[in-house]
Amino acid sequence: MLGFLKKVAEYTRDAVDAASYLAQGLSVTFDHMRRRPITVQYPYEKLIPSERYRGRIHYEFDKCIACEVCVRVCPINLPVVDWVMNKETKKKELKNYSIDFGVCIFCGNCVEYCPTNCLSMTEEYELSAFDRHSLNFDNVALGRLPTNVTTDPSVQPLREFAYLPKGIVDPHEIPSTHSRAGKLPSEMLEWLNQNPALEDSNKSNQKDLPQNEEIL
Ligand code: SF4
Ligand code: SF4
Repeated sequence: MLGFLKKVAEYTRDAVDAASYLAQGLSVTFDHMRRRPITVQYPYEKLIPSERYRGRIHYEFDKCIACEVCVRVCPINLPVVDWVMNKETKKKELKNYSIDFGVCIFCGNCVEYCPTNCLSMTEEYELSAFDRHSLNFDNVALGRLPTNVTTDPSVQPLREFAYLPKGIVDPHEIPSTHSRAGKLPSEMLEWLNQNPALEDSNKSNQKDLPQNEEIL
């Protein structure tokens, strides 16, 4: 009898949870229904990618030790590390490094595991090309730093909806002096240090993150 009651309680809890998730999803849908469409006049206006956006990879040739960890952690063994063994110094000599962005899935594993941090994700997302072979970036192309949306003088940067202050739905209403989407990682760390209780309780809890107005 006790087992049966437990099962009924579990079933009821699951049903209530499912209903609340359904309501949450529908609330997003209904919230969108009362919003007017916003047009981004690309390429004169561009949305600012989020801080952790995984765009084209940047590579620093001088830092690379040709360990090939990036190749081993890549789900498709994509990076090509071209090195030769110098018999005199008995050390690897790096000749070339390339990543084909026509194949890359931008998972970020190579960036995460590189022991010398010579790989990093950038905000660059405009990688369309007429020839797919031109997406195979060598170490020179990978070493170029992209122009950020926020620093490109020919572009009007616009914030995504999630980064807009409460009550504002159109990014055109934000003054152009507010160029960044949110706080920089260093500023976010400072903010967390000022709130030690929050850091201890749950750093990743979205409920406790500062509201958009505080970030701005
Ligand atoms: S993991 Fe980093 S250091 Fe090692 S080969 Fe790849 S890019 Fe170079
Ligand atoms: S981002 Fe992912 S798929 Fe692309 S090269 Fe790095 S590990 Fe491979």
